[in-house]
This record gives sequence, structure tokens and C-alpha cells, in this order.
Amino acid sequence: MNAVDPSDKTWQDMANCLGVDPDLFFPERGASTREAKEVCRGCVVRDECLEFALANGEKFGIWGGMSERERRRIRRARAIARRAAASVVSA
Ligand code: SF4
Repeated sequence: MNAVDPSDKTWQDMANCLGVDPDLFFPERGASTREAKEVCRGCVVRDECLEFALANGEKFGIWGGMSERERRRIRRARAIARRAAASVVSA
């Protein structure tokens, strides 16, 4: 993943979802996320979008082609990796 400056939002100018109905990216609980993820699939700023959502703790919606549950999984995996790296350094 790229390191992204969370305050930099210039990537949004290149978003594939510009002009797309925002409701698509914030589906009702249990509704399909397939259409939103299709839009994200071809997006050139997908990494930036995902990192922005992770850095800002976005709780809702599809960001970088991932749902909140998928983003939670990434956050957990990174936290585990950070703890493992810290224990290696301190060992
Ligand atoms: S990854 Fe998806 S939500 Fe993010 S900017 Fe691109 S199209 Fe929009």
C-alpha cells in the first residue's frame, strides 16, 4: 500500500466515482455493494482512497473498493503486524 498524506485530497479529482450517485457507496445494511465495487475496480486512485478511509477511520461506505468490514480486517492485520514488528525490535 502507498503511504498517503491524509490531509491531501487532490486524488479525489481523479476519482472514478465523480458524478456517480453517492448512495451507491453507502448502501443500506445488507444491501449489495457489488455496483459500487465495480466503479472502484477501474479507479486509478483506489489505493489513495482506501488509505484515506483507513487513516480517517471511516466507519461507513465503500472506500477503495472495500466495505467497512473489509477495512476493519486490514486495520486488524496491520495492528498485528505492527505489534509483531515492535516485539522483534524490542527483543
Ligand atoms: S476507489 Fe471507489 S470510492 Fe474511492 S475514489 Fe475510486 S471510485 Fe471513488
